[in-house]
Amino acid sequence: MPAPLRKLTEAPDIWPPPGTSPASTDMQGWGVTIWRGVCGTCPRCAKAPIFNGYLKVHPVCTSCSAPLGDMPSDDAPPYIAMLVVLHVLAFFVVMIFRYGWQPSPYAYGAMLVALVAACMVALRMAKGATIAILLKLGLKRAVLN
Ligand SMILES: [Zn+2]
Repeated sequence: MPAPLRKLTEAPDIWPPPGTSPASTDMQGWGVTIWRGVCGTCPRCAKAPIFNGYLKVHPVCTSCSAPLGDMPSDDAPPYIAMLVVLHVLAFFVVMIFRYGWQPSPYAYGAMLVALVAACMVALRMAKGATIAILLKLGLKRAVLN
């Protein structure tokens, strides 16, 4: 049974805290860490949400004080979300132009609404995963600047 997760007394200025490495900050393996981020829970403890709203990130985890807000995800989440969603869209483009599929205007409208919804969901999932990866790598904004 793994040791209980240490609660940080406060958000450290440097992540991982001095004297530790990213691998020794009670982070799980890559798969678990990224999955927690995709699900929108703290990649370190999985007991608190990453987001305070749709895409606004808590400055620190409300459960374990991991510095979630200092992870510079920047433009990576939109790139990842568009990469995934546009590959799904490409299927319909091929169906329309290659095979002559002609959906009704209502079907086009429904596909547009579904596309927007898929983009919004994928963006949130990609941002959570990006924050999880950055937290595991220890790439806090202060470290990069
Ligand atoms: Zn946490």
